[in-house]
Order: sequence, then C-alpha cells, then structure tokens
Amino acid sequence: MLPVVHLIDEIINLLVKWFSKRRDFALKCTSTLCPNFGEKKLRRKLECASRMNVVKLNHVEYNVVDGDMDGHVHLTNNTCSCRKFQLEQLPCKHVVVVCRFLKLNIYSMASLYYTRNTWLNAYSDTIYLVQPQELWVILEDV
Ligand SMILES: [Zn+2]
Repeated sequence: MLPVVHLIDEIINLLVKWFSKRRDFALKCTSTLCPNFGEKKLRRKLECASRMNVVKLNHVEYNVVDGDMDGHVHLTNNTCSCRKFQLEQLPCKHVVVVCRFLKLNIYSMASLYYTRNTWLNAYSDTIYLVQPQELWVILEDV
C-alpha cells in the first residue's frame, strides 16, 4: 500500500473516532444549548441577573442597572451597550435580565450556533473508509 494511502486511512480513522465521540455527546445532551459553550455561560449570567434592576425606556429599549456597568439593551436591534451580546451572539447578563423582566425565553435570544441541534448536525455526516486500491476507478487522463 502506498504510504500516502496509509496516512489518509489513519486520518480518516481519527476523524471517524472524533465524529462518533462528539455525535454521542450531542445525542446524550439534554439541554437546549451546548453544555460547555452556551449552557454554562447562560447559567452563570442567570445567577448574576438576580441582583440587577430594569428600567423600561420604551417598548424595545431597556436600561439595566448593574453595579459595575449599566447596560442599554435594544431588543429589536439585538444589541447591548456592553457589546458582549453582539460579539458572542449569546445573551449578556443585561439581556438576560430584560428577558426575565419581560418573561421572554432566554434561549430564543441565543444564536443557533450554540444549540444542540447545530452541534448534532455538525457531526451527522458519515465518513467512509478508503476502498482497497483494487476497487479504485482511475481515469485514463490522470
Ligand atoms: Zn450587556
């Protein structure tokens, strides 16, 4: 067997292991967001949110009074003055407080990239091993 083919086989075997392991983790996951990236961060923000107050400026803008830094949340634009919401595409602590205040689903404010379904889809494809060299179809002009 060509050394390159052997190397490709090893790489494919490694990818198959990684995909299988991650697919199994995603299947066992019961949370809406990925546990390590979205869910843990959001839970920490929920704990901080209990100590903050909301001032309604109009029907889409809210000021969140925080001890460290106040946050100006605009729900239609999906922005917060702390800029973490725009950067992470995950609700910052100010947005979490506003969602609680309005009884909105916090998860609906998170990007789809953090969801378990996106995680599952990323590893849903099957990786097939390289066929034995006798079965290869090689075009004449190659
Ligand atoms: Zn914020």
